[in-house]
Amino acid sequence: MDITRENIKKSLTGDSAQNNVFFQAVQEVLYSISPLLESDKRYDKYSILERLVVPDRVIKFKIVWLDDSGKIQVNTGYRVQFNNAIGPYKGGLRFHPSVNEGILKFLGFEQIFKNSLTGLPIGGGKGGSDFDPKGKSDFEIMKFCSAFMTELHKYIGPRIDVPAGDIGVGAREIGYLFGEYKKITSSYDGVLTGKPYMFGGSHMRPEATGYGVIYFTQAMLEMEKKESLVGKKCAVSGAGNVALHAIEKLLQIGAIPVTCSDSKGTIYDSRGLDLELLKELKLEKRTSLEKYIESHPEAKYIPVCDYIDGEHAVWNIECYAAFPCATQNELNEADAQNLISNGCVCISEGANMPCTPEAIDAFLNHNICFAPAKAANAGGVVVSEFEMSQNASMQRWSFEKIDYKLKDIMQQICKRVVLTAKDYGVEGNYVDGANIAGFKRVADAMIAEGI
Ligand code: GLU
Repeated sequence: MDITRENIKKSLTGDSAQNNVFFQAVQEVLYSISPLLESDKRYDKYSILERLVVPDRVIKFKIVWLDDSGKIQVNTGYRVQFNNAIGPYKGGLRFHPSVNEGILKFLGFEQIFKNSLTGLPIGGGKGGSDFDPKGKSDFEIMKFCSAFMTELHKYIGPRIDVPAGDIGVGAREIGYLFGEYKKITSSYDGVLTGKPYMFGGSHMRPEATGYGVIYFTQAMLEMEKKESLVGKKCAVSGAGNVALHAIEKLLQIGAIPVTCSDSKGTIYDSRGLDLELLKELKLEKRTSLEKYIESHPEAKYIPVCDYIDGEHAVWNIECYAAFPCATQNELNEADAQNLISNGCVCISEGANMPCTPEAIDAFLNHNICFAPAKAANAGGVVVSEFEMSQNASMQRWSFEKIDYKLKDIMQQICKRVVLTAKDYGVEGNYVDGANIAGFKRVADAMIAEGI
């Protein structure tokens, strides 16, 4: 086959339905970087695109574990090691029934550019399993994590591939995975990030993605509009680690987060969300958001079955800024139109690729400040890299130092994106700026390292 950009697209679509999200992510990057490809023929000469869209390796394995009733359960595990041109493979593990190779290829591909944008020495990877943690006992989670690591340990290492958490994988799961890795290898390595603080984790890793999204948004608003989030109503989706910490930072800076959501419904609290209650419901009790209104009857709960025509209630409110922090393709064109007509002027992606391409087009056509995930949600992997540095040097950094460094890097990413967009004639377009800047660093390293 003649390897052209058209053929790459065809071969990716032809692959299977699972690859749709991967194709969506690749297509966006290919489209964005065309001004760079026009001006620099080295990328064609070294077949960078053809090499970049294929992962270095996809590892797929069987996970067998015993549930609490003594029944044997079988799941599939994956690790996609996508690109290590600028550093060890780095990216999260997702445990969710929707996980398949296509989703992990999309996430691993995005991670390459996100990690590159941070300016830190980390390559791109992603992994996970179709295991559903919902409703599982603590003991079942532990047994599954041990079985998962029995296979995964062969492929990772502190200078090879360093997984972290993602949806369904938090400090508890990372703790069990780390315990098993240590038992198998007898090695106390910084092979996972997002570890609990008491055994090698970093301050601020749980907060990092959510806080980082807000730091990025503050920098973007200051640069584009000379405005701030203080006193402004904000819509947030999700109720996991990213959403809760984005809400926390919004409250700390004096903004008013009014919505959040889970797979069953949306909470709307016009006076500002009660974060302590949300943390209790979602982090401690791991229960549905519906319980929020037992303590706050004046707030509104909208169950998913009441959503109208594929629109998501969480976006159908008046707000200044919106932060999709749940999952991919959760904000569609109709949602985008609702936000625009309700006066929203700024969108920052906390989750990975939460806005559909049609929604992004709608935002860009209305000159709304739009921060793509690979720039806006890089804070998590930034503090993961800080954890790797602390582990490698056997040191611990203070919360203040990490917070300062995180804020600084999020501001630098923002500047890098803005300047790159300007250099390539797409001023104000953060999607193109992020894709070009992220691509350039990796592609130049690939050229310098030869084939
Ligand atoms: N899962 C997170 C992300 O999507 C963090 C990855 C990491 O810390 O390695 O960026």
